[in-house]
Amino acid sequence: MFELLAEEAGARRGRLHTAHGAIDTPAFMPVGTQATVKALTPEEVRELGAQVLLANTYHLALRPGAERIARLGGLHRFMGWEGAILTDSGGFQVFSLDHLVKVSDDGAIFRSHLDGSEQAFTPESVMAIQRQLGSDIAMAFDQPVSWPATDATARVAMERTHRWAARCLTAEAPPGQLRFGIVQGGFEEELRRESAEVLGEMPFDGFGVGGLSLGEPKAVTYGLLALQTAILPRDRPRYLMGVGTPADLVEAIARGIDMFDCVLPTRIARNGSILTRGGRINLRNRRFIEDSGPPDDGCDCYTCQRFSRAYLRHLFMAGEILGHRLASIHNLRLLVRLVAQIRERIGTGGLEHTMTSLRDLWALAPLP
Ligand SMILES: [Zn+2]
Repeated sequence: MFELLAEEAGARRGRLHTAHGAIDTPAFMPVGTQATVKALTPEEVRELGAQVLLANTYHLALRPGAERIARLGGLHRFMGWEGAILTDSGGFQVFSLDHLVKVSDDGAIFRSHLDGSEQAFTPESVMAIQRQLGSDIAMAFDQPVSWPATDATARVAMERTHRWAARCLTAEAPPGQLRFGIVQGGFEEELRRESAEVLGEMPFDGFGVGGLSLGEPKAVTYGLLALQTAILPRDRPRYLMGVGTPADLVEAIARGIDMFDCVLPTRIARNGSILTRGGRINLRNRRFIEDSGPPDDGCDCYTCQRFSRAYLRHLFMAGEILGHRLASIHNLRLLVRLVAQIRERIGTGGLEHTMTSLRDLWALAPLP
């Protein structure tokens, strides 16, 4: 159940109630692809302020298997996370990992990236996997298209996504599991409008906006996003899938998005890159060799309270795994906190001022 608590300048503040607690929105979800937010314990993820994380249907179905996780008590118990879990539909992985064998209205046949075995996902099987995992929010199976897709290709995939969404709704759901449909439509306004209208009529508990930020210009991303959020039902949450630079979060919240996930903060942390209020920096750079300051001046995370840039640089140069952990903690906290700071301003009358400061801070030009 979603409570819309305030609206201001296009942004929304709300609360989504799940079987594993409430999610204050807008919310940033750390990604736990393999039932782990890479290198962090559940307690560390909780301390970052995260109320929900994303786990990956495709990866968990192939290894260790959804039935096995069900026998072990479900995904929450398996990974030791007591907060909410959203599972994606696997659509993005099946259609982007370059091992698709065949797609038809029935579903998709693909080869496992692990052992090359032939696997099939249908709308029904994807919902069954998410039922076995026991996630709090299940996503409908969808077919995204890559940039630049022709209108004809995008239309076929969109119409198939709509038919699959209807089938996902007829599948049996465990008590308390919420279901989100996913709007698609490629990169043309007409298709994006049609997809939001068709999906918006279906009785989903929320909606993912899929197939964006796949290489198209940012102005296209934000324009299509605004177009779809204006059509989707106001009383249900909207989740922009796989998007998460600081600039993207600010712009998407201003266009009515409530939830985000992105691998960026943990992926770049592995290579020694951190997000700071002065931009993205790589701590391997020689200029940090005797930098005694914190990774980011304004950050309240564990890493920034305890350690210097020089120490983190040393860890990365020495190949110590603590470097990856500390950089992940910082990057995730920075995004969770950025979204929370905006959330607190929505409905106070001060949002425009906050957004202007954030755009200046992250050196963003406002887009129409
Ligand atoms: Zn920090």
